[in-house]
Amino acid sequence: MAVLVLGDQLHPEYGPAADADRVVMVEATAFARRRAYHPHKLTLVFAAMRQFRDRLRESGTAVDYYECETFADGFDAHFETYPGDDLVVMESPSYGTSDRLSSLVKQRGGTLEVVENGLFLSTREQWDAYAGDPPYRHENFYRMMRRETGYLMADGDPVGGEWNYDDENQQFPGEGYETPDPPRYEMDETTREVWEWATELDGSYDTDPPGPEWADPEPFFWPTTREQALDALDSFVDERLAEFGPYQDAMLDDDWSLNHALLSGAINVGLLHPGEVIEAVIEGAREQPDAPLNSVEGFTRQLLGWREFMRHTYREGMPELASANQLDATEDLPAAFWTGETDMRCLSDVVDGVRERGYSHHIERLMILSNFALVYGVEPAQLNEWFHAGYVDAYHWVTTPNVVEMGSFGQGIFATKPYASSANYVNKMSDYCGDCDYYHTKTTGDGACPFNTLYWEFLDRNEDRLGDNHRMGLVYSHLDNKDDEERAAIRERASEVRSMAESMEL
Ligand code: FAD
Repeated sequence: MAVLVLGDQLHPEYGPAADADRVVMVEATAFARRRAYHPHKLTLVFAAMRQFRDRLRESGTAVDYYECETFADGFDAHFETYPGDDLVVMESPSYGTSDRLSSLVKQRGGTLEVVENGLFLSTREQWDAYAGDPPYRHENFYRMMRRETGYLMADGDPVGGEWNYDDENQQFPGEGYETPDPPRYEMDETTREVWEWATELDGSYDTDPPGPEWADPEPFFWPTTREQALDALDSFVDERLAEFGPYQDAMLDDDWSLNHALLSGAINVGLLHPGEVIEAVIEGAREQPDAPLNSVEGFTRQLLGWREFMRHTYREGMPELASANQLDATEDLPAAFWTGETDMRCLSDVVDGVRERGYSHHIERLMILSNFALVYGVEPAQLNEWFHAGYVDAYHWVTTPNVVEMGSFGQGIFATKPYASSANYVNKMSDYCGDCDYYHTKTTGDGACPFNTLYWEFLDRNEDRLGDNHRMGLVYSHLDNKDDEERAAIRERASEVRSMAESMEL
């Protein structure tokens, strides 16, 4: 029996690989050409796999590592050497992957046992016992997970008396606010080899844009080894945790990382287990009198609550979720998402960050990128493709619920209203609007901020679908206050904005 380790299962202590004598890994590079993946993403995944292989070999585990085009090629080679081999693998969180692997193995005369994925904090059984029918409620799920794990609990009650301190976590820092530089990891020979391959990749892309040339990557710096990932975790706990909470929703033009953990890439490939991350945060906070509970609880909620919730809602929503589009949004993704070329300072800065590092933080993803796509009317699946290609932490199981459901209100499986917002939010939570060429106070006419125009036009366009949503009563009452002339001016300006976006003059 050998253990098949997938590229997002690279933890030395969880799952069947922890005490395996023989491990099988397949580095299937055809994946790299299926989307215009960012070179940082490709480097992170393939370098982390090679580093994991080397680590296992150093510790005495035999590893058969196949560098090939597809999984089918890898299994062809494997079963030639080990006819009838029996494999075991942790279940992949992405839809259909485990079934596809099982049938590839079976076709070649082997067997594949699929076991629970130990790199998550909740099981299917826990979810099934909790979930009921959609729309699923995150807050209830999160409380159940706090009780089940005992994280931030004291005698059955939440530490501090409240479950959620989110209302303390929407502050904007004062002028001159500075944050510590995030850690950057030097590439060793193994990682550099992958980086050179990823940045020089050419070949037959079946994508538009054709390959990762859209990106403008800085030298690669993300953690690819267990040691680096643990160091990145320590750096977050020691240097940024205390101020993570209050400013987690803020956006600053000259500070891309703020106090964010920057750990999602490492967690999603399995270099870190979410449980050990939460425990390090809770433990670290005990030693830091200045680490407020709102920071610790806010972080725990993201990882224990949202990340697990996304994985289960994805399972429940698939396969329909991938193409869900209840608002019938049909616009193409504007080219500015690939080029960053737009006079909208917020959009341009956030897209440039993705082009450079394959990263932006949660509020930039939700309230700049997907908010823009939502009010513009972009087809959710196209936006999902873009996120999937662009981010170091993107996998189908995690982008799809975040982008299609949370960002685009695609299905209504857990979102109860769209996250649509005007420039008011961007102005309140960022320093972008002050120096922007667009006026954040204007909705119609020349220079009006596209966020304002498109927000009102989105409400107008979707009145039949959203007008009786009780959570949107207030905003629709504001729309009702606009007379026909104003609504016509909004539609006219929205049409101009779309023409500008199409001709790359946004
Ligand atoms: P921090 O905020 O510092 O840390 C919180 C941790 O909690 C993250 O490391 C992450 O592991 C986890 N987390 C928080 N929220 C979520 C969430 N909604 N879903 C899953 N994990 C969460 N996260 C991904 O891991 N991959 C994606 O492809 C992805 N796409 C997103 C797309 C959109 C439109 C939105 C709104 C969110 C997306 N997220 C995604 C969630 C979240 O934005 C990122 O996990 C987070 O920004 C990662 O950066 P960080 O480690 O610095 O996060």
